[in-house]
Amino acid sequence: MMAGQNTRESVVMDGALEMVAGVFPEVAEAMRWELASQRGSLKMIASENYCSPAVMAAMGNWLTDKYAEGVPYSRFYAGCEHVDQIEQLAVDEVRNLFGADFAYVQPHSGADANLIALWSMITHRVQDPELERLGLKNVMGMSGEDYEAIRQKMCQTKLLGLSLGSGGHLTHGFRQNVSSKFCQAFSYDVDPKSLMLDYKEIERVAKEVKPDILLAGYSAYSRTIDFAKMREIADSVGATLWGDIAHFAGLVAGKQLTGNFDPVPFCDIITSTTHKTLRGPRGGLILCKKEYEEAVKKGCPMVIGGPLENMIAAKAVAFREASQPAFVEYAKQVIANSRAFAERMMSRGGVVLSGGTDNHMAIIDVKSSFGLTGRQAEIALREASITCNRNSIPFDAEGAWYTSGIRLGSPALTSRGMKEGEMEMIADFIFDLLKGTKARENSRAKADTDPNMLREVGENVASLLGKFPLYPEFEF
Ligand code: PLP
Repeated sequence: MMAGQNTRESVVMDGALEMVAGVFPEVAEAMRWELASQRGSLKMIASENYCSPAVMAAMGNWLTDKYAEGVPYSRFYAGCEHVDQIEQLAVDEVRNLFGADFAYVQPHSGADANLIALWSMITHRVQDPELERLGLKNVMGMSGEDYEAIRQKMCQTKLLGLSLGSGGHLTHGFRQNVSSKFCQAFSYDVDPKSLMLDYKEIERVAKEVKPDILLAGYSAYSRTIDFAKMREIADSVGATLWGDIAHFAGLVAGKQLTGNFDPVPFCDIITSTTHKTLRGPRGGLILCKKEYEEAVKKGCPMVIGGPLENMIAAKAVAFREASQPAFVEYAKQVIANSRAFAERMMSRGGVVLSGGTDNHMAIIDVKSSFGLTGRQAEIALREASITCNRNSIPFDAEGAWYTSGIRLGSPALTSRGMKEGEMEMIADFIFDLLKGTKARENSRAKADTDPNMLREVGENVASLLGKFPLYPEFEF
């Protein structure tokens, strides 16, 4: 795009900002600063990305004004013809993209998708025999007493997922999350030596726990999941298999995780976010086998109220974008970039968990590499305009607040156009900066970076960013 050219995107977005400023100037001002901040930093938060201007435009408009409880063509409100069409287009597009039997695009977030999926699996498991015995079709028609008996049985459901410490998510049964309140939550860990999933150990724990639901998915793990093996383990104990692909959905959609690593043929239910590697708007998604359709599509009233049809329109646009051949190239580059980064980091002496990466993220043990906590490293890097998040590493002695690790992702930088060469340079920036940072005595949060190093890395980051402009379509 030529500088100074008044693009269509620029006119739309600038006009939108001016309208916001007309009502609440401080909000518009903060929005402009946020854009400047995203443009002026290396975004390496593994769960973040940049969506397209088309996705943004689909999000911010009159669709937000429409109530549409229910599912397409079966709503509790009048006047849903057009949002029916939009939601059905989103459903069809994402079903094709992943090759799933059924798709539910209403969850407002990944956490909502997980709640809906979990409760759907629980009801599905207890419903058939119990309801048959009671001569009922579903829990809705039950008397108070029968319902209470069923509810108690539901709460005995056993969920087995990857522990938070080993890289699982809060919604996978963490004790402070609601997912552990209405069922019994158990966890498995990564292997203490390799820090990778150990399917023999997962099988051993599964045989011991006898879960009703086996969960495969992660938020902080840099390898792939063998879903064929997880299916075998689930079958060996009669469990439902749930895949949470929130982080790597874009790598599945972009055909980089195929065969045994593709969750779709193996899982009963799959949940995801739409805003990480998938590069869509913030939101959730559920894919499932036909037999779970009835339960899943009761997301409202089960968990959510009215669906956000503006977000669903934006999801549809993102699913269409992810169906293009260019997205396959994008997903491939995401992994190549992550690998280039991790290999360079290790060649300099940095400790990368599990000795590398097969996906979009690498986790660095900053405690053993640089004598820093994750919090100190995160703050020092942000000073040099490198944005990442601290993350506990398996069996972390520093706990979940300070942590011993940082998690670094390649999705956003790849969206910006960077390739392996740039990722190697960035690994050097990070290594040099953290090598030049010393923890303050008796502090797990404060550290001091050599000012010359900070200046040098800051300048190098700025010069690299200058070559990869973010949203060049926007003339502001
Ligand atoms: N599941 C996994 C594996 C995640 O990593 C996340 C978010 O990071 C979620 C679910 C929740 O997504 P959200 O933040 O949209 O609620």
